Amino acid sequence: METFEHIARLQNRIRDFRNRGLTVGLVPTMGALHAGHISLVRCSKKQNDITVVSIFINPTQFNDKDDYRHYPKSPENDLKLLRTEKCDVVFMPGEEEMYPEPDKRTFDFEGLDTVMEGKFRPGHFNGVAQIVTRLLDIVKPDRAYFGQKDFQQLVIIRHLTNRLKMPVDIIACPIIREKDGLAMSSRNVRLTGTDRKVASEISQVLFDVRDHCNRFSSAGAVREYVLSRLSLFPQMQVEYFEIVDEKTLQPVDDLQPSAGGVCCIAVWVGKVRLIDNVNLNS
Ligand code: AMP
Repeated sequence: METFEHIARLQNRIRDFRNRGLTVGLVPTMGALHAGHISLVRCSKKQNDITVVSIFINPTQFNDKDDYRHYPKSPENDLKLLRTEKCDVVFMPGEEEMYPEPDKRTFDFEGLDTVMEGKFRPGHFNGVAQIVTRLLDIVKPDRAYFGQKDFQQLVIIRHLTNRLKMPVDIIACPIIREKDGLAMSSRNVRLTGTDRKVASEISQVLFDVRDHCNRFSSAGAVREYVLSRLSLFPQMQVEYFEIVDEKTLQPVDDLQPSAGGVCCIAVWVGKVRLIDNVNLNS
C-alpha cells in the first residue's frame, strides 16, 4: 500500500497505472474508518484494478465548528485496516494541499439541497461538492464509491457529476449496520454508554415502518408514529423525519413500496447527531 500527501506525487503514480491500462476506483472518506467504509473499499477492489482511498476531514462541509473540532480521528488504525484490505493507494492530504486558497465556488443543486440535511446544515452540500469535485479532478477515477447511509449526499453527487459531465460512474453501496441495527458511523464512538444503547431505536423504528407501511394511512401518520416512539427516550431529539422520492427528494405521500419512497431521519442522541434511512422498497 502506498500513501501520498501531495497531489502531484499521487497524480504521477496514477499516471503510471493509467499507462499500464489499469482501472481506478476512488473511495472518499473522512477517516475514523469502520466496516461501512471498508465495504466501499471491497466493492471498489472487486470492480477496479487499483483502489484509491482518500482520508480528509473536509472543513468546508462542517456547518458546526464543534462537530469539526470533535470529529473522530484514528489515522494509524485507518492505515492498518486499509493495509489488511490490500488497498492500493491512500491519499491523506493536509488542508493546505486541498485548499491552498479558499474555495469560493458555489454549486446549484436545483433544489436537492433545500430539504433534510441541506435545510438543517446550511452550506454542507456546497462543501461536499467542493471536496468531491476536487478529489474527482485529482484522481480522475473510473468509478467513485459512496454509501447509501448518506442518501441525500449520494443523490446530490450523482446530480452534480451528471450536470458537470464528469466521466465517472457513481456507485452506491448499501448501509452497513451494527448487530442491533444502528447504522455504522464514525460519530458513533462519541455516544456515551446509555446513549449508544438507545441509539438502536432509530433503525428499529425505520425497519418497523418499512415492514408495516400498509398499516399507515399517510406519510403524516408515519411521522407521528416515529416521533411519538422516539419521544419515549429523553436523550433523543428528532431533527427531521421525511419520506421522500428517491430521485427528486421531494416529500411523497404514496407509501406503496413500489413508489420509491425513502424514510430519512436525523436525530440528536445526547450531543451526537445521527442520520439513517430506509428505502420502503428494500
Ligand atoms: P465519511 O467518512 O463519513 O465521510 O464517509 C465516507 C463514505 O462512507 C461515504 O460515502 C459514506 O456514505 C460511507 N459510509 C459511512 N458510513 C457507512 C455505512 N454505515 N455503510 C455504508 N457506507 C457508509
